Amino acid sequence: MTVTILFSFLSIVRHIAIIGAGAAGSSAVFFLHKQLLTLGHRDKVEITVYEKESKVGGRAALIHPYNDSKYDPVEIGASIYASVNLHLVRAIEQFGLSPAYRIIDDNHVSYLYDGKTILVDMDDVTSRYNLLSLTRLKMLTETSVHHFLRLYQRNFQLLNGPFRTVAAYVKAIDLKPQLNESGFRFLVNNGVDEMTVNEFVDSLTQGTYGQQVTQLHAVMTIIAMAGSGQSIKGGNYKIFESMHFSTLLYPRNERLVKLFSPNYLDDSKLAKIVGSRANIGWIYRKMWYAYPRAPPRNDTVFPPINPDKGLYYVNAFESFISTMETQCVAAHNIIRLFLIDFGYDEKAATLADDYWIDTAV
Ligand SMILES: Cc1cc2nc3c(=O)[nH]c(=O)nc-3n(C[C@H](O)[C@H](O)[C@H](O)COP(=O)(O)OP(=O)(O)OC[C@H]3O[C@@H](n4cnc5c(N)ncnc54)[C@H](O)[C@@H]3O)c2cc1C
Repeated sequence: MTVTILFSFLSIVRHIAIIGAGAAGSSAVFFLHKQLLTLGHRDKVEITVYEKESKVGGRAALIHPYNDSKYDPVEIGASIYASVNLHLVRAIEQFGLSPAYRIIDDNHVSYLYDGKTILVDMDDVTSRYNLLSLTRLKMLTETSVHHFLRLYQRNFQLLNGPFRTVAAYVKAIDLKPQLNESGFRFLVNNGVDEMTVNEFVDSLTQGTYGQQVTQLHAVMTIIAMAGSGQSIKGGNYKIFESMHFSTLLYPRNERLVKLFSPNYLDDSKLAKIVGSRANIGWIYRKMWYAYPRAPPRNDTVFPPINPDKGLYYVNAFESFISTMETQCVAAHNIIRLFLIDFGYDEKAATLADDYWIDTAV
C-alpha cells in the first residue's frame, strides 16, 4: 500500500493531501496537526485525508465472524503491539483505549507442527531447542531493539535526523549487518544452531511475515521474534481512528481459525485441512498485499522517502521494518522533513515535541 503526502503551495493557505488512513497516514495527520499548532501555523494549513475504504486503520482491520456483530470482532491484520512500541503505547494512553488481554482457556495449547509431526509445545521450547541458542536469540533481539530505540531519543534525532533515505536510517542506528544478511545466515553466524533457526525462528517469520527465515533480512527476522505483545480492546484500528490462532466462538461451540497463505485457499484445500467441508461453518477470505518482500539487501535499494519536491512516501520504510509502530516512526520523520522543506522552524517543533525519551538508551 502506498501512503503519500502531497503539497500544493499555490494559495496562501497551504493544502496538504494525505493518501491512506492506515497507521502511516493517520499518524502523519496527528503529528502534522500537533507540530503546526506548536509553531502557531495550524490555521494556515488545510489537511485532507483521502481513504478509499469506509474505515480508518488500513491493515489494522477487524471482522465479525458470520458478519454478525453479536460475535466479538477478530483482528485480520495487525494483531499485536509490544511495550517497546512507544508511539502506540503513548497513543493508547492519550486516547483512553484499553488493552485486550487474551482469554486463554485451560485447554489452550500452542504447538509447532511441520505438517507431519508435532515438533514442540511452544510453551516449553526448551524441551527441544538448545538453551544456549535460545539465550543467543534473546540477546540478539534485545540488542537490535536497543539500536532501534535510539530513534526515540531527542538528542540523537537532533544530531542525525530527520532521514531522507532508508539507508540513512540504517546507518544511523547501525543495523547494516542485519540488513545485508538473511535471518538464517545472521543468526547462525552469531551462534544460534541451525535446528533452532530452521524450526523455531522460521515458524515466527512465516507466522509474522509469510516468509521463510532464509528469505527475510535479519532486521525483519528479529522483529518477528520481538513480536509478542497485546492488542486493543475493540480493535487496533481504534488507535488510528483516534489518531490467534484459535478462539472459541460463543454462543456457537465453534473454533475460529485464522489461516495465512501466500496462495488462494479454495474450499477443497480448506476441507482437506479440517477433514471435511462439513466441518466449516463460515469462511471469510481477505486478499491483500499483506507484507512487503524483505530479502537481504543492500541498503541503497529501498524506495525513496522523498521522490519529488512536496511528495513524501511513508511506506518506503516498510521493507526495512513492517509494523504499525514503525509506520508511525516513519510518518513522524516525514513530517519533520516537510517542516524543513517548507520553511517552518522544525528545530523548535522538535525541541518542543513531548514524544522523545531523553534518557540514554
Ligand atoms: C495479516 C497481517 C498481520 C500483521 N500483524 C501485525 C502485528 O501483529 N503488529 C504490527 O505492528 N503490524 C502487523 N502487520 C503490519 C501492519 O499491519 C502494517 O505494517 C501497517 O498497518 C501498515 O500501515 P500503513 O498505514 O503503512 O499501510 P496500510 O495499513 O495498508 O494503510 C494504507 C491505507 O491506504 C488506503 N489506500 C490505499 N490506496 C489508496 C488510494 N489510492 N486512495 C485512498 N486510500 C488508499 C488503504 O485503504 C489503507 O487504509 C500485519 C500485517 C498483516 C497484513
